[in-house]
Amino acid sequence: MTFRELYTTSKTLISNASDSSGTEALLLLSHVTQLTKERVLLHFDDPVEDDVIRKVLDLAQLRADGFPLQYLVGKCYFYGLQLDIEQGVFIPRIETEVLVDIALEIVEEEGLKVVADIGTGSGAIAIAIALNSSCEVYVTDVNEKALALAQKNAEKFGAKVCFFKGAFLEPLKPVLNKIDLIVSNPPYIPKGAILPKEVLMEPSEALFAGEDGLEFYRNFFSQLDLLKGKTVLMEFSPEQEDEIEKFGVFGEVSFYQDQFGKIRFFQIKIK
Ligand code: SAM
Ligand code: GLN
Repeated sequence: MTFRELYTTSKTLISNASDSSGTEALLLLSHVTQLTKERVLLHFDDPVEDDVIRKVLDLAQLRADGFPLQYLVGKCYFYGLQLDIEQGVFIPRIETEVLVDIALEIVEEEGLKVVADIGTGSGAIAIAIALNSSCEVYVTDVNEKALALAQKNAEKFGAKVCFFKGAFLEPLKPVLNKIDLIVSNPPYIPKGAILPKEVLMEPSEALFAGEDGLEFYRNFFSQLDLLKGKTVLMEFSPEQEDEIEKFGVFGEVSFYQDQFGKIRFFQIKIK
């Protein structure tokens, strides 16, 4: 079998799950052979070794079954950074890059020094903030696998990030007085929502937050005494705007749009 034939067979398999089957098939070939996409194309009419054929077809089948490509190649991209990713850890979304932009603006305008990222996942937000500001960043997550991966990602980029395992603000209590800004892309999908197969391959504690998707926010703001004087910036689902507005009782709320024009972030300066 030539590379071209392997590419065509993989592309056909992947087309069950993706509209970008050609690009993805080429990425899998490049991943397995450790060759750049350009080099794979240069070798298109050469024969492929059997173990490469087997590995590529196995991955293409997994992709056809709905596995996210990022899990199969172990890489994802966020804010211009190539991060390691693995099954069991949430794949950062492009919308969340705007949360980083907003956080960096707040940090700059208000001269902030210490930021916390609650539910850091792969470390995407925290690492992007640490690398693009002089802030020290504290992160938490309930998911041990996520924390280990975030630590690996932070080390890869030499980002100044400190890791704490635990829920909400609990693990940060000893350092909370230093923290000026708290950012988070928390779970916000209502339990039982119909989701694409690909999304359901991600850890459920990263996605779902109670019957209405608001449980994380409610629990977080129940510790209001710990938040006094701090700025909170979080991602949410555009359908939840009316509910989020109610958090205005805790302080002044501002909303921000994502790059697709959807209201997706809120900021509250806690009174
Ligand atoms: N911040 C990452 C990003 O944007 O790519 C991950 C976001 S993911 C939607 C939510 C993350 O919050 C998951 O890693 C999950 O394990 C974590 N998480 C869920 N509930 C939490 C809680 N109560 N306290 C801390 N982390 C939590
Ligand atoms: N935006 C994610 C999705 O598309 C949901 C992430 C979250 O709950 N924070 O599924």
